[in-house]
Amino acid sequence: MSVFSNFHFRDHESVAFGYDPVSGLRAIVAVHNTSRGVALGGCRVWPYASEDEALTDVLRLSRGMTYKSAMADLPLGGGKAVIIADPHEDKSDAMMQAMGKFVQGLGGRYITAEDSGTNVADLRAMARQTRYVVGIAEKRDMHGNPRSGDPSPATAYGVFSGIAASVKDALNGRDLRDIRVAIQGLGSVGWDLARRLHEAGARLWVTDIHSENLVRARQQLNAEVTEPERIFDTDVEVFAPCALGAILDDETIPRLKARVVAGAANNQLAEDRHGEMLRERGILYAPDYVINAGGIIDVAYEWTGYDAQTVWNHIARIADTLRAIYARASRVGAPTSQVADRMAEERFQRRRSEEAA
Ligand code: NAD
Repeated sequence: MSVFSNFHFRDHESVAFGYDPVSGLRAIVAVHNTSRGVALGGCRVWPYASEDEALTDVLRLSRGMTYKSAMADLPLGGGKAVIIADPHEDKSDAMMQAMGKFVQGLGGRYITAEDSGTNVADLRAMARQTRYVVGIAEKRDMHGNPRSGDPSPATAYGVFSGIAASVKDALNGRDLRDIRVAIQGLGSVGWDLARRLHEAGARLWVTDIHSENLVRARQQLNAEVTEPERIFDTDVEVFAPCALGAILDDETIPRLKARVVAGAANNQLAEDRHGEMLRERGILYAPDYVINAGGIIDVAYEWTGYDAQTVWNHIARIADTLRAIYARASRVGAPTSQVADRMAEERFQRRRSEEAA
């Protein structure tokens, strides 16, 4: 495995490897940039086919976290962890505790949280060995009711606010009443988003590869259920990807009838150039790492001091950030994805040059 010559290593600050033969832990932590604060990002458990694949994934993800936290206006840098293991077959309490020890040994340069393959129980096991963990505190929702450390409701709230702002921008100031929204993936975030949109008067088209939530959505939210492959063709104003990455590509973009693409999934554009392709089609794209930052905002406050009202107010500001991106994109005639990247880089590079001065 080569590290320094990996294309994605580029501007990273450090990469650490953790190994525990007893529990079978094989983990990598990448810290991309700490100029705005310590690196925070989730820990993914995935059965990577090779160590190279795991390294490339953690490098890509940690870089993304620097951009996400900068655009969410958090005093944090970007980092991420991956564990090479099957979350259903190999994960154990001992492995999670070994991961906690590894994170503790990094001395606070990296703070971990949930990601694909890890849940609140896993993070609690890590927390027995390290204090550098978030996503585990008992919290309150915006109505003061208790909820778990899972950040999904916070992510869904941010996406909901972002969709409302994007619809207003793209559709001459319209609100969400009678707006047609297609949601790809009714998991933790997709379901909560669907519920909020329904309450706001939107009409829903939903799909998933598992049927439980689809039945619930039909019964409780009056949603139309669509085959997974047909979701790109639905006649809607908004397409909200809430399942997988890389779903906006040469094949799917021409099929979209939506005027707005705004959803929770990470890395929605198959390639950077697909941001321009959406712009050419007159589709307003809410950059994924901006609109889905509710979760990182939620867990970040566990680190700095949690106050429910402050957190929900901060998440609501995602809509302001999107409006600023849309205004600049239309002024300079560039894709919103590119404008978001430039704005993020200005934020974390400015901090770095201030430090150097
Ligand atoms: P989840 O696993 O709970 O839900 C994903 C859903 O998508 C599942 O119900 C799954 O069956 C469905 N799905 C998978 N492949 C599909 C396909 N081809 N067509 C239709 N549906 C499909 O995950 P989640 O926590 O709801 O997250 C959704 C997305 O948002 C992910 O991309 C995740 O990385 C991203 N995200 C989540 C959070 C968070 O706080 N949970 C934060 C930021 C970003």
